[in-house]
Amino acid sequence: MNMNCFLITYKNLTNYCFKNSLLIMRMWLITMMMLMTITPGSPQDYSNARKEMVSHQIERRGIYSSNVLKAMRTVPRHLFVPEDLRYLAYEDTPLPIGCSQTISQPYIVAYMTDQLHLDQSDKVLEIGTGSGYQAAVLAQLVDSVFTVEIVPEVGQQAIENLKAAGCDNVYVHIGDGYHGWKEHAPYDAIIVTAAAPNLPRPLLEQLKINGRIIIPVGTMHQVQYLELYKKTEKRVIKRRLLPVRFVPFTRDIE
Ligand code: SAH
Repeated sequence: MNMNCFLITYKNLTNYCFKNSLLIMRMWLITMMMLMTITPGSPQDYSNARKEMVSHQIERRGIYSSNVLKAMRTVPRHLFVPEDLRYLAYEDTPLPIGCSQTISQPYIVAYMTDQLHLDQSDKVLEIGTGSGYQAAVLAQLVDSVFTVEIVPEVGQQAIENLKAAGCDNVYVHIGDGYHGWKEHAPYDAIIVTAAAPNLPRPLLEQLKINGRIIIPVGTMHQVQYLELYKKTEKRVIKRRLLPVRFVPFTRDIE
């Protein structure tokens, strides 16, 4: 073999290797892009994400009630957010659910649930169904949940979400939650998940003695606070808890 011939073969070989490595890189890039565009999360991925959500966002911030933690580990939050946002379902944040409404941050859902000190036999009223997620978490802990949503499309989607998640002890009503849901009153606990200027009187009336109400109070332009009310035989005791940010409580003015 003369020198020229060797050089040509060597050049061919390097060309061949270069082309091959380009091809490998291209295939690797395409695979990565496909992996990124496939909706992330097998059921196993979601359940791991849920466990991490509970330990990092909830236990670490001081919620220790085993029942509440178990409920948060159980409810498939990704089924309550729009499909294109599912990859964010277990992040430490509220998310948009359409119609200018939001699903609350997981920690706030756990915190509000914890403050109600629920029993297995309780009947709970929620005002502001939204995605249905908070109702689904409550439903793990109590006998039944009655929830009222003012925006019909939002309420309809919540009914579908709750069905997909297998919740059969949550009852959804479309209407103005200011009036509560009288037919099923009195309730052991009431939770409001939209910020109101003050506690609607009918809700207090629909609460049992020794029952609790948790509600964010304040307008969009003020600092809102979660307030906890306890109704005793003689009086109502109010405690101010955390500063929060909720979508506004709206009214259906007929
Ligand atoms: N609990 C929800 C988040 C609620 S967002 C969840 O887990 O996803 C607040 C919801 O309260 C919105 O869907 C809004 O439409 C609803 N809302 C506001 N004012 C209301 C009222 N007067 N009666 C019933 N629902 C109301």
